[in-house]
Amino acid sequence: MNFNTLTATHISDLKAMVSEDRFSTGESVLKLHAKDQSHHRGCRPEAVIWPQDTAEVVAILKYANANQLPVVGWGSGSSLEGNPIPVQKGLVLDFTQMNRILDVREEDFQVDVEPGVVYQDLNEHLKNTGLFFPPDPGARATVGGMIANNASGTRTVYYGSTKDYVLKLKIVLASGEILEMGRRVAKTSSGYDMPHLFVGSEGTLGIVVEATLRLAGLPEEFSAAVVTFPSIEAASKAVSNIVRYGLNPAALELLDASCIELFNKEKALGLEISPTLFIEFHGPSMAYLSEIMGMTEEICKETGSLAFNPGLGREARNRLFEARHELGEMITRAHPDCRIQVLDAAVPMSTYPEIIALAKQAPEETGIKGYAFSHAGDGNLHLCLAGRKDEKGDWDLIDQIGQRLVSKAISLGGTATGEHGVGIGKRKYMLDEHGNSLAWMKRIKALFDPHGILNPGKIFP
Ligand SMILES: Cc1cc2nc3c(=O)[nH]c(=O)nc-3n(C[C@H](O)[C@H](O)[C@H](O)COP(=O)(O)OP(=O)(O)OC[C@H]3O[C@@H](n4cnc5c(N)ncnc54)[C@H](O)[C@@H]3O)c2cc1C
Repeated sequence: MNFNTLTATHISDLKAMVSEDRFSTGESVLKLHAKDQSHHRGCRPEAVIWPQDTAEVVAILKYANANQLPVVGWGSGSSLEGNPIPVQKGLVLDFTQMNRILDVREEDFQVDVEPGVVYQDLNEHLKNTGLFFPPDPGARATVGGMIANNASGTRTVYYGSTKDYVLKLKIVLASGEILEMGRRVAKTSSGYDMPHLFVGSEGTLGIVVEATLRLAGLPEEFSAAVVTFPSIEAASKAVSNIVRYGLNPAALELLDASCIELFNKEKALGLEISPTLFIEFHGPSMAYLSEIMGMTEEICKETGSLAFNPGLGREARNRLFEARHELGEMITRAHPDCRIQVLDAAVPMSTYPEIIALAKQAPEETGIKGYAFSHAGDGNLHLCLAGRKDEKGDWDLIDQIGQRLVSKAISLGGTATGEHGVGIGKRKYMLDEHGNSLAWMKRIKALFDPHGILNPGKIFP
């Protein structure tokens, strides 16, 4: 695809579509929108626009489509695979000012939101309704970015990922046409499942301007446990058994000893330095939860757990999971002269011990410092690797580790990305993972965006 460079005429035409303070070509603004939370490099956009309503998005897209200008959607920029970074310059549409909560329908367990709503703010707004939006990627992500990446988090093992909460979408296509898809019902078998085609499409098929989301009831009671194991293999075996026995944990996070060391250092958690599971259960009563907790302890003992610390109160539980959410930042702080790469892959449950063993072995073999942690309950592994900023050798090794891990995941029937999306970093695995259905994905892209202006250079190798 050939794209046009932004001219003075384009700039004055686009400026006329929004108020003056919501269009910028300022250096610092462009720099800020050229980088997400990954190490991937794109390029600076030529302008950033902050739309405030659907009509503005329609006008901008119509104009960009007619003038062959690339357009990239932007939520919080918290992606980890270069998903919102322009690679062909052009325009960034930053949705942080399109962040209204439009309607809460408590009786239907539904909410209508604009794409720039941050999910933590949504849950704060909902807190007196007894309802919440469960996907929790941790960073201050927007609903638009979560839909585009099909984000998930620590509670996905029980509650599901973003796709499980999207009922309806209002999308603006590259042409400026508005498409409304989906219904306000818990189920439908009417026709093609259009909303879910757009979930996980990383802004390459259309721009989300409104979403109707399903909500879940806030659990009445919860209980958490910290369990220590002699090896990562024993811990991953316990994960598999906890799921097999149908105990339905709300979170089942596996952390290697290096992560626990950081928690103790930064948060004084006083945990045993050994592979560890953070487990959480939600339920209707404490009696129900203590029975479940007893069964979990038995399962963990059978797989050789060293210590089982159950029944943590709300405060202790919050401290643990806050530490878990801050782990990425702790790793960065522990390596001030390094950049950190987060690898993400997911495999079928039965093969989890194999991938976790490789995640331990591969960094050890190369001398690169690695931190393995994972949403183990759904077979999703993360491996954080620290490479010295200007040491090409470190980055070659990190690439090799990434290649080994992802290729192994795919060969086990898994995926190159459990939740971070394809962006720039995972494009090279798309053919391996999808075979000839990749060609059909390209046809779908061409159908919705024939000039290829929406987030060009992403998803496809
Ligand atoms: C510390 C840390 C921990 C993380 N943990 C997790 C985790 O546990 N699980 C997880 O899933 N992710 C995780 N992430 C990754 C990231 O937070 C999620 O992918 C999140 O959903 C991105 O949301 P965002 O608002 O930052 O979107 P952005 O990064 O700004 O954009 C994401 C994608 O959405 C597109 N987009 C944005 N708005 C729109 C729109 N209105 N219409 C169409 N496309 C749009 C962008 O073009 C881009 O392709 C983590 C990130 C960090 C930094």
